[in-house]
Amino acid sequence: MGAYQHILLAVDYSGHGDTVIRRAKDLAEKYQAKLSIVHVLDNIPMPDTGYGTVIPLDKDSGYELLEAEKAKLMQLGDQLGVPKANRWMVWGTPKQEIIQLAEQEQVDLIVVGSHGRHGLALLLGSTANSVLHYAKCDVMAIRLLDD
Ligand code: AMP
Repeated sequence: MGAYQHILLAVDYSGHGDTVIRRAKDLAEKYQAKLSIVHVLDNIPMPDTGYGTVIPLDKDSGYELLEAEKAKLMQLGDQLGVPKANRWMVWGTPKQEIIQLAEQEQVDLIVVGSHGRHGLALLLGSTANSVLHYAKCDVMAIRLLDD
């Protein structure tokens, strides 16, 4: 298997996301790969931004919730040393947007948690399950144990 060149970390800010973040960072270092991060806004109504469903993180926005989400992503990006151009905030359904972004950005490994906000009762959450089934690249689901 060749080295990964572009790893996409999908974050939902659920309680146990730290394990997933650490693993993605380790993998990016090990493979000297570009690391991108994505958070999909699935619980905030979409305003008419004029930019479509992708939110330009370098533009001002008057939406407080949006600003809070943006701040979290920026903080994580800074923590991981991810360039601003590789930090993505997208409106939509997480499974669809993660897969679409991975194709658009020619990602060769997607890293997700085995479950997050949507899948606590499941062995594999619904987002993780769909990404595993439908992504065209490799997917690593980091096994998260319920506390
Ligand atoms: P789930 O299958 O929804 O329980 O979540 C499993 C994993 O999918 C999480 O640990 C994240 O890695 C990813 N994920 C879920 N929801 C989102 C989201 N809104 N944005 C980005 N990644 C997500």
